[in-house]
Amino acid sequence: MEKRIVVLGAGESGCGAAVLAKKLGFDVFVSDFGPIADKYKELLDSHNIPWEEKQHTEELILNAAEVIKSPGIPNEAPIIVKITSAGIPVISEIEFAGRYTNAKMVCITGSNGKTTTTSLIYHIFREAGLNVGLAGNIGKSLALQVAEGDKDYYIVELSSFQLDNMYEFRANVAVLLNITPDHMDRYGYKMQNYVDAKLRILQNQQPDDAFVYWNDDPIIKRELAKYKHGKLYPFAEEKQPGAAAYTEEEKLVFTEPTPFNMELEELSLTGKHNLYNSMAAGISANVAGIRKETIREALRSFTGVEHRLEKVAMVNGVEYINDSKATNVNSCWYALQSMKRKTVLILGGKDKGNDYSEIAELVKEKCSALVFLGADNTKLHEFFGGFGIPIIDTHSMKDCVAEAYKTARNGETVLLSPCCASFDLFKSYEERGRMFKEEVLKL
Ligand code: ADP
Repeated sequence: MEKRIVVLGAGESGCGAAVLAKKLGFDVFVSDFGPIADKYKELLDSHNIPWEEKQHTEELILNAAEVIKSPGIPNEAPIIVKITSAGIPVISEIEFAGRYTNAKMVCITGSNGKTTTTSLIYHIFREAGLNVGLAGNIGKSLALQVAEGDKDYYIVELSSFQLDNMYEFRANVAVLLNITPDHMDRYGYKMQNYVDAKLRILQNQQPDDAFVYWNDDPIIKRELAKYKHGKLYPFAEEKQPGAAAYTEEEKLVFTEPTPFNMELEELSLTGKHNLYNSMAAGISANVAGIRKETIREALRSFTGVEHRLEKVAMVNGVEYINDSKATNVNSCWYALQSMKRKTVLILGGKDKGNDYSEIAELVKEKCSALVFLGADNTKLHEFFGGFGIPIIDTHSMKDCVAEAYKTARNGETVLLSPCCASFDLFKSYEERGRMFKEEVLKL
């Protein structure tokens, strides 16, 4: 009998894993506790993969030799608890797909900046003419790409949830952008659990691999000593001994393997956070041997990613910016920090155990008003209520944009950078961002 693989969660990663497993000749079954989207049902059917939705039938799951779990399913979910106590290994789609490819893996994790940096690295590798795939949290799943014909390189965005279920996978280039509190609700409100998950990106690194990281992050610095890793490529804003990238006199300087520099002004992405993202991307490309001219040109031509400090429109002298992807407090800090004008900040949503004190000073300094957008704004009122800044309470995007429009004065910016997940009022941060843009464009 073939080894039985059960895939839990029939989204992009789960279905990709199922297709790859089927192609490899395993006995595959897919189970989703929620409804499965039509396009995924069609994909599974076209490969003759049995599936179920809106339930988990234990007899069909607990006989698995191995379970591939989608990153959205928490380890505390009752079915996962049963699987684990039955001694069945639970792995992520990336772990599974990684077994069946010899491609070089460039993997990006961190609390913020993953998608931007992953997309930027992918852009550089494509501009260099390499046979490269984009995978992980964005684009097509790694497993599906491996199933459909392999690549030479994959640029893989890894969330802590994916890393949680990775064991043998090796990142040839590992990028760790930063570590700040996020997803505390899924890590038992213990920061160290989340930190440990992020550092799993280093497991299995060999001496000839590369570790690219932000040298000014106190947590990364502290943790680094505990782990084996490849060659170190730290980056920092200020020149530091050993830094693979830093800035000096309006220049972005790369030191190794190939030294070169470029004007900071040439970078297509703006803001301090994007400087870090550009450094991480440039080093990764440099390590892969891409020509400096190509790296420089690609850092110039990158067009950015939707919902990340995305300029939407100017209406009556007021600028509207969509940063719906700012789903934690630290990303909002960077957004506010990059604001050059007085700002009407829209924040709120599903709170993941947030501590807003990180943005308190910036809010006092930069915000002319706050618009709360959430099903329940109580915690926001408790924290920001005493700041002496006008506050408007809203519970729908339509009201929120209308109120922001009434409040913002000529010369100000309206910034949607919510600090929170979107699931209380929206399907996703993408839907929240799209609805924001729709309402703004109606003004
Ligand atoms: P992720 O994929 O990790 O969620 P994104 O690239 O989607 O990160 O960016 C999410 C938000 O985080 C952006 O809207 C931006 O405000 C902020 N951000 C981006 N890069 C960084 C960084 N290097 N450090 C801190 N915040 C960042």
